[in-house]
Amino acid sequence: MTTETKRTTKNAVPKALWMVNESIREVVAFCPRCKAMETVNFNAEGIIPTRRFTQKAGNIYHNCGSNVPCRLYSMS
Ligand SMILES: [Zn+2]
Repeated sequence: MTTETKRTTKNAVPKALWMVNESIREVVAFCPRCKAMETVNFNAEGIIPTRRFTQKAGNIYHNCGSNVPCRLYSMS
């Protein structure tokens, strides 16, 4: 993990690349089980992985143990 982090930092993606990336969408995920709401980001490949959500078969699940997929609300 430490090695991975160092490598990522060393070969950091130029800032311009992030700025140009228009395909990222901000979506609010609402967990029906624990009522948590959190903003998640999606790119062309799906949800950008976070520690709090897992993506399965097109749905995202909160890591509170919910087996009910989160509801997604588009910000725009
Ligand atoms: Zn939850």
